[in-house]
Amino acid sequence: MAKVVILSGAGISAESGISTFRDSDGLWEHYDIKDICTAGCLETNRAMTVEFYDKRRLDLADKEPNKAHRVIAELKAKYKDEIAIITQNVDDLFEKAGIVHEDVVHLHGYLTKVECEKCGLVYDIGYKNTQDSYNGKCPTCGSEKIRPFIVMFGEAAPMYAKLNHEINDCELLVIIGTSGNVISVDILSSYVDKTILNNLEPSFAINDELYTQVLYKKATEAIDEIASDIEIFLEDRA
Ligand code: NAD
Ligand code: ZN
Repeated sequence: MAKVVILSGAGISAESGISTFRDSDGLWEHYDIKDICTAGCLETNRAMTVEFYDKRRLDLADKEPNKAHRVIAELKAKYKDEIAIITQNVDDLFEKAGIVHEDVVHLHGYLTKVECEKCGLVYDIGYKNTQDSYNGKCPTCGSEKIRPFIVMFGEAAPMYAKLNHEINDCELLVIIGTSGNVISVDILSSYVDKTILNNLEPSFAINDELYTQVLYKKATEAIDEIASDIEIFLEDRA
């Protein structure tokens, strides 16, 4: 199991032009989060929910990874078994930076995938609208009940078990671009000896006194220092 865990949130993709929850602009502004991100919204508000994630999926097509994704991809290639990449993001920017999909733990789902509610098949539709892929029908059972492969607030998040598993064995936890509102990073950090926190600014949901090192700057500006700390840590314990 990995000794270094890199846990990221929306902030790491902000410089690639994907908006975070906080500085909501564009896409997010036209929707009320509770109508499109909460358990049950597929029953009560299906068309708008599917449309919202369709728009976000199409929006992803021309987005490029930034320096933070790329440096992390290089580290992962060099120290494959020592580093776990875990993200709250549903975008594919780590994958575009060269990390194989199976090596990125996506806690909240993955935007280019959809799921058949009838037979449970999860399949990748790239940057298409749900309706434009297999005529909006499941390629296995033909059902038209296709949902975004996204964990809504209040739904079970099966990949959290993987996060907890990795934290058990983690010696250096690196947190990049998350406000700590969805996942309590303070609690995670309490299990780990050495912790690095990188955000643009302090968050009400994070007590930064709990962290070994705190970097309030853009992820692309912090990443060289973070990478060097990770390398020194891993070389020292080798
Ligand atoms: P958040 O919006 O609550 O917080 C973003 C954090 O990133 C803030 O702490 C902010 O200081 C920091 N930040 C902003 N720009 C930064 C930069 N350039 N460099 C470093 N840090 C920066 O995001 P969250 O904590 O990830 O939680 C929001 C939820 O929204 C998650 O569950 C996630 O799945 C979802 N989400 C995902 C995406 C995506 O996939 N790219 C985008 C928006 C929201
Ligand atoms: Zn099906």
